[in-house]
Amino acid sequence: MIDFHAHLDLYPDVLEVVQEVTKRGIYVLSVTTTPSAWKGTSALAHGSSRIRTALGLHPQLAHLRVSELPLFDQLFSEAMYIGEIGLDGAPEYKRHWELQLQVFDHILGRCQSAGGRVMSIHSRRATTAVLDRLEKFSGAGLPILHWFSGSSRELDRAIAADCWFSVGPAMLASQRSREFVMKMPRDRILTETDGPFAQIEGQSAKPWDCEKATVKLATLWAISELKVDKLLSDNLRSLGAAAERMVASDLLSHQVKSNMQ
Ligand code: MN
Repeated sequence: MIDFHAHLDLYPDVLEVVQEVTKRGIYVLSVTTTPSAWKGTSALAHGSSRIRTALGLHPQLAHLRVSELPLFDQLFSEAMYIGEIGLDGAPEYKRHWELQLQVFDHILGRCQSAGGRVMSIHSRRATTAVLDRLEKFSGAGLPILHWFSGSSRELDRAIAADCWFSVGPAMLASQRSREFVMKMPRDRILTETDGPFAQIEGQSAKPWDCEKATVKLATLWAISELKVDKLLSDNLRSLGAAAERMVASDLLSHQVKSNMQ
């Protein structure tokens, strides 16, 4: 089972959730919303080889935490995955748009100069702007649009831009989203929950709820759950390999640079 976008550090019963995730052998991308959360959230993954922590600065917090960008830069070399990052164009955040852009551009620039990173990206009401930024910072890495909620045209553009998608049970509850998922390349899809923010039947989603997404994908694709699991683990493996390649090339270029000095 794979939950490629969960906020482990934000569960009130965090240790129990981590314990259960470990017990069930779930692969988790544990995204953070601020650089200052990196240390504590990474510590949650100690001893769990299937939990990976991502360094992020959430667009909804950009205006409050822009001052943490130097900390982001400082921690960058420790992070194989970046997220949650992105843009949010909903009215309550649109007034901080300039700061959101400043933060997102800074992070994409950092990823680009490091030879790329796998990035978990928020794009609510901002898909076009997110795709514009990714185009501008080409080489920033491998973008995974989490909980895609754009238009059909934006989906086409995201697919053409080689984006990946992480889809969850809450998202798959909508008919429109299911139609979108049918158009997404199957070799670029992972499951997620976005817990504890996303709700399933009035409860905060837990990482093991990604199984509900697997069940829905099996129905949509008209294949067995076993085949969906196999496909998703193949996807996870190729994504992990891409992440490692990017980090390795970054390390190599550092070595080359320091050897030249
Ligand atoms: Mn999230």
